This record gives sequence, C-alpha cells and structure tokens, in this order.
Amino acid sequence: MNLSRRDFTRLGALSLAAQLAPPLRAQSSNRKIGYAIIGLGVIADHFMRGIQATGNSKVTALVSGHPDKAARIAAQYGVPKSNIYNYENMDSFRDNRDVDAVYVALPNSMHAEYTIRSAKAGKHVLCEKPMSVSVPEAQAMIDACKAANVKLMIAYRCHYETTNLAAVKLIRDGALGQVQQIQSAFGFYCGAGAWRLDKELAGGGPLMDVGIYSLNATRYLTGEEPSSFSAYTYSDPNDPRFKTVEENINWIAKFPSGITASCNTTYSAPMDGYFRVYGSKGWLEVNPAFIYEGLNLKAEYYDSTGKQVKLDQPNPEKDPIHFTNEADHFSNCILQNKTPKTPGEEGLRDMQCIREIYRSAGISMS
Ligand code: NDP
Repeated sequence: MNLSRRDFTRLGALSLAAQLAPPLRAQSSNRKIGYAIIGLGVIADHFMRGIQATGNSKVTALVSGHPDKAARIAAQYGVPKSNIYNYENMDSFRDNRDVDAVYVALPNSMHAEYTIRSAKAGKHVLCEKPMSVSVPEAQAMIDACKAANVKLMIAYRCHYETTNLAAVKLIRDGALGQVQQIQSAFGFYCGAGAWRLDKELAGGGPLMDVGIYSLNATRYLTGEEPSSFSAYTYSDPNDPRFKTVEENINWIAKFPSGITASCNTTYSAPMDGYFRVYGSKGWLEVNPAFIYEGLNLKAEYYDSTGKQVKLDQPNPEKDPIHFTNEADHFSNCILQNKTPKTPGEEGLRDMQCIREIYRSAGISMS
C-alpha cells in the first residue's frame, strides 16, 4: 500500500486520538488504589507528593534499603510500620491487601527484576522510564505482567501533561501544515559518583536517562514510528565519569512520512529540555518541555483564513501535577479495567529505538 505524507498524518491522528484525550479523572467510587513505593529517592518523592492530590490513589507501603528513611517517610504518609519492606522481603506483600499496585522508582537496571517480582506477587506495576536496560528485559516485563493478569504502565509523565498534549493537538489539527523537521534536546551536568554513570545500574548514559524524553517526544509529536537512525557519540577519554557510559550522543531519526528529527543529549552541559517543530505553515516550540513546571508553548502559524496566529502560553501548573495526573490515570485504568495510555509496549518501542541509536553510534546494547 502506498501512503502519502498526508495519509501518515491522518493515520497518526487516528492512532493517537486516544492518547490525546485529557487524562481520565478520578471516578466517584471511594475506592483508592494503594501503592507500594519501591525505592525512596528523588522521583519517588515527587510521585508521593503527587499522589496526595488524587482522589483515587494513596501510598500504603514502602520498599527501601534504608529503614530509617523509610520510617520517616512512612510517618509522613500514614503508612503503618508493618507495611515497610526491604528488597529481600518485598515479595511478601503478595498477602497484603493494602497493596494493589507498585511504583518502581529504582535505578534503571533494577526495573525488570522488581516489575517481574511485583507482577508475580499479583500487583499492578507503574514503572519509571527507561522501562529497562535492554529489549529482551522489556519484553520479559510485558510477558510477566500479562501472565499475572496485572497492568503495566511506564511513567511517561509528558503523556499526561497539558502543554505537551496541546502541542500534539495543534499538530494533529493541522495548524502547522505538513510537519517537516523536529529539533529536540535534554541534558544536564551529571556529577561524579552518581549511579547514572555506572552502566551496571544505568544501562547507558544520557540517552537512557534524559535523551529518552526527546526520543519519546518525536514519536508522540509525529504519531509515527522512526524507520531509521543515524547517531554520533563522543566521550572525553580523560574524564573519569565516562568509563562505562557515553558523555554526549546526537541522533537523527527519519520517519516514514519523511519527517526528520534531530536530537541531542549530554551529561556535561545544562541543556534545557525542549522541542521545536517546523511545518509547512508555521512552527511551534515547547521550552521547557520536560521538567516538572514552568512549561511554555510558543507557536506561529497561518490559520485557514490566511491570518497569522502567534501563541505564547506559559503553563501555570506546578510540580507535582504531572505525577498527580499520571497516578490518577493508572489508578483509573486499574479501577475500570482499561489499558493505560503508556503501556509496557510504549516502553518497549523506546528501548528498541535506543538500541538502534546505540548501534548506529557504535555502542552495544542487548
Ligand atoms: P535516586 O538515586 O534519587 O533514587 C533511586 C532509589 O533507588 C534510591 O534512593 C534507593 O532507595 C533505591 N536504590 C536501590 N538500590 C540502589 C542502588 N544500587 N543505587 C542507587 N539507588 C538504589 O534516583 P531517581 O529517583 O532520580 O531515579 C529513579 C528512576 O526514576 C530512574 O529510573 C530514573 O530514570 C527515573 N526518573 C524519572 C523521572 C521522571 O520525571 N519520570 C525523573 C527522574 C528520574 P532506598 O534508599 O529507599 O533503597
């Protein structure tokens, strides 16, 4: 079948229609989904604060390697001492009716093990990005959740965030005409000693950690799956931070309709997470696009009457609203037996793309 670029845009619009729907809001039922938080680090803190604002979710258990920290956080969220677990005894939450689901907020290489163990314990899984550190692991996570008949969602915040959704809607509505090119970047200076610099724990460098935001954005902005990648990497051989993971990586993705996306990520420079989309009738930019608050959408395009439209829309939403939306969505999916907008398959697709980007750059990944 020969598809024109216009057909691709239409197909993308249809396949993404569900994703563009505003996040489902809590239903009237009083039932709240109880979450065990696995790994009490930075992102878990945002998530636990976000959950407080939902009507359908609550923190009911903690899994941590640090009992003192766990006890302090348990007191903060009203979690009983009996619901504090460690990484060894966590599986016993199988019999704990307070725990319906888990939120996996561990270093990347631990996602697969803790997702699979949680599924085997009969718990639904919300897992942080990147889903895993390899394609086979991602598939094993999907298979384990299917076998256990539990839901699996990957915590892609931006799919539940209003400014990113507004940008996608403008594109789907044709405001920019035919999209031609996308630019995106996200990076930061990663200090020595971080687990993010250890391939055993991180699986890779900035591409796995923050480059994945640009990768995922190019997929939701186009509504297409990339057909090929061309990538380049550079790591300073004299910088001890980069013994096992890359320092910088740039890639170009080509999409079936002809759109190209040029993306950069680094662990050696503060790089605003943003995207800019150029179409035949105008452009849009979300900058910042990937952090927790202060997002801003700008656009200039010609409408159907030929009038130029200029948008400058700062988003007043504050951290932790993204996490509230995300938890609310997953809990509603559990309560209503629906498939999440970002299921395991969405994470798997990014892992396949990451493998291709690394392959093109000469970096191995399974
Ligand atoms: P942190 O280092 O802040 O927290 C990770 C936690 O994992 C630790 O606090 C610790 O919890 C537990 N842990 C268990 N074993 C180890 C180990 N060997 N080394 C380090 N920590 C260990 O990481 P982040 O919270 O920043 O990241 C966690 C995950 O969340 C990553 O996959 C990351 O990609 C993702 N992330 C997602 C973001 C988003 O916006 N969606 C933003 C930032 C991160 P304890 O002490 O309780 O055992």
